[in-house]
Amino acid sequence: LCQKQSPEHKTIIEVGGTKIGQDLTVIAGPCSVESEKQTVETAIGVKEGGATMLRGGAFKPRTSPYAFQGLGLEGLKILRTASRETGLPVVTEVLDPRDVSWVCEYADILQVGTRNMQNFSLLKEVGRANKPVLLKRGMHSTINEWLYCAEYILAEGNKDVILCERGIRTFETYTRNTLDLSAVQAVLELSHLPIIVDPSHATGLLSMIEPMSLAAFAAGADGITVEVHCKPEEAMCDKAQALSIPMFKRMMARINKLNECM
Ligand code: PEP
Ligand code: MN
Repeated sequence: LCQKQSPEHKTIIEVGGTKIGQDLTVIAGPCSVESEKQTVETAIGVKEGGATMLRGGAFKPRTSPYAFQGLGLEGLKILRTASRETGLPVVTEVLDPRDVSWVCEYADILQVGTRNMQNFSLLKEVGRANKPVLLKRGMHSTINEWLYCAEYILAEGNKDVILCERGIRTFETYTRNTLDLSAVQAVLELSHLPIIVDPSHATGLLSMIEPMSLAAFAAGADGITVEVHCKPEEAMCDKAQALSIPMFKRMMARINKLNECM
């Protein structure tokens, strides 16, 4: 189902005003929803910069069980407020199959994170949901395994899947993960599903977000998802990779320039 049938075959997913797979998609926002002030301020900033969607985690898959786990329902309500203030649709992660149906009341796109890529009960559940799904590549997964996971969702009847390359684990330790940009071209060749890139989790390094975002668009990606915080130094999660709002705006100016000549 996720296989490309002809060179023109492409899935276009309309969310809010944007057509993912056709228009340039820029999903931006904090790693996690920390407060209404932080989320609304960041949402206004990324909207001004030209983002097309707001991201933010209410359920955080943290390495340590003692780290901040997210605000849950309160976080989802804050995301709705930020969406109302800016008009930006909301992309947010769902961790547990039992939460899918009610998280749909708050999310415009359901995100399945790298750690859950092969959580087949979660995939089946989001496959039965009436919201598009952003499926991140498993950090230990091949492109083929990733496409099979998209297949799980499509097979349940949900045709709106967006793939997201977010870096894979290699022997390299300089970056948080290794961004596999060639996965963009591989997906363009193999599948009709939109493909976006997450340079924030792929690199974990502030200095690399802009060059890897530009590289993603140059490689033919349909969009990017990036972490932005109104006060990066205070971020409760993924501080080292959070763009400030001015940095995001500068990056967007360069992205727009690049896309003009493509
Ligand atoms: C995220 O986007 O918030 C996230 C946790 O990313 P990943 O699943 O790619 O680590
Ligand atoms: Mn993060």
